[in-house]
Amino acid sequence: MDCIFCKIVEGVIPSTKVYEDDKILAFRDINPEAPVHVLVIPKEHVDSVDKIDETNSDLVAYIFTKIPQIAASEGLGNGYRVITNVGEDGGQSVKHMHFHILGGKKLPLHLA
Ligand code: AMP
Ligand code: ZN
Repeated sequence: MDCIFCKIVEGVIPSTKVYEDDKILAFRDINPEAPVHVLVIPKEHVDSVDKIDETNSDLVAYIFTKIPQIAASEGLGNGYRVITNVGEDGGQSVKHMHFHILGGKKLPLHLA
């Protein structure tokens, strides 16, 4: 499968990792939109949140147990935003489910 995030998991494409374990990987976004911009992905390929059901929702739950730890290690004690884009209208450019962690400044409230 031609998926850049699977290639990052495999180490074929380099990334700046901030957290890794057997299930997930977190790395810095190559085009940061905030002082801290980290992407959290499952190592197993899932297209997007739209493909989550009762058979794989544990993966999302697991990611959300790690997001606070990653945020703390990035110094985001003053708050942060978690975003996941889904599909064409959602603006998802990489079709491997990922959660953006954005912070390090007061983020604007907008939908773009
Ligand atoms: P989305 O638009 O929600 O699909 O987000 C995809 C994100 O992946 C964008 O913010 C990109 O800047 C980021 N991105 C794309 N390729 C890479 C890469 N090789 N390493 C790190 N981040 C990447
Ligand atoms: Zn993938």
